[in-house]
Amino acid sequence: MQYNVYPKISLGIFPTPVQKLENISRLLNANVFIKRDDMTGLGLGGNKVRKLEYLLADARKQGAEVVFTTGGSQSNHAMLTAAAAGKLGMKPILILKRRGVTEQVGNQLLEHLMGTEVIFMDTDNYADIYAEMDRIGTQLGVPYYKIPCGGSNALGSLGYVDCAREIGQQGSRFDYLICAEGSGGTMAGLALGAKLFLPGTKVYGMMVDSDPFDEITPALMREAAALLGVEAEISARDYHLRDMCGPGYAIPSEEGNAAISLLAKYEGLFLDPVYTGKAFAGLIKMAEEGRFQATDNVLFLHSGGAGGLFAVL
Ligand SMILES: *Cc1c(COP(=O)(O)O)cnc(C)c1O
Repeated sequence: MQYNVYPKISLGIFPTPVQKLENISRLLNANVFIKRDDMTGLGLGGNKVRKLEYLLADARKQGAEVVFTTGGSQSNHAMLTAAAAGKLGMKPILILKRRGVTEQVGNQLLEHLMGTEVIFMDTDNYADIYAEMDRIGTQLGVPYYKIPCGGSNALGSLGYVDCAREIGQQGSRFDYLICAEGSGGTMAGLALGAKLFLPGTKVYGMMVDSDPFDEITPALMREAAALLGVEAEISARDYHLRDMCGPGYAIPSEEGNAAISLLAKYEGLFLDPVYTGKAFAGLIKMAEEGRFQATDNVLFLHSGGAGGLFAVL
């Protein structure tokens, strides 16, 4: 297939492994596999590394000396942006929402260890934060680059188009591919990538925030397809969404915590309370509803989030 190739900077270790969860497969009566994007090789791993390979290549091309990004106080994305920008010789500045755990634990501790400049803003509106980035950037008087919350623009989501291609090259065929959806870029990239490279694989986004993902997901898929220059008629058949948010974004849910305990106990793997625990709880629900046949191959994307395990509300 012909598509445009965008420059990216190598930050991680790819391909990440695909492993079968033997015990969970027996418990859920399906073949359950895990794609280890918690092992992407920078910081404590996680899905943002694939996005940052594109975003920071763009930042560097534009001559940026300072890289801004944002998120919640315990944002994995913000922490990994700081790690990646610092490694590449650009200065990260994080402007985070004050909501959540701001003490020096979890990702805040990691940012402290990196000496990252972190500014908390008392706002729930990202527009205020992007305006503050422009104000500070202009004041600094150096070229700067703004990465949106979660790295979830079309360029960032190309990292997960790549991940879908990588899964195809790893050999096994999957009936389902399941991920957490928090700002949308991962799901949009995987759903577009599956449409292009994984025929027959249904992609499920387990929503862990309350944004309108039924609009965000196809819009990002279309923008990413336009960047790639591929003709892809995106319809509601190309992605599946399920609400697993529970009591709210970044607030642990009972079923999410149960999924964390299950994988810890039976597989020696640690999910996180904000994203992957809730997403895996969605996979368990689908199994309980009888959606999977015993012969189905189900692939769960472990998108990381280790920092969040140490900073729960
Ligand atoms: C950011 C994040 C997600 C969600 O990815 P989006 O592209 O923002 O939807 C999932 N898991 C972890 C651990 C994350 O940090």
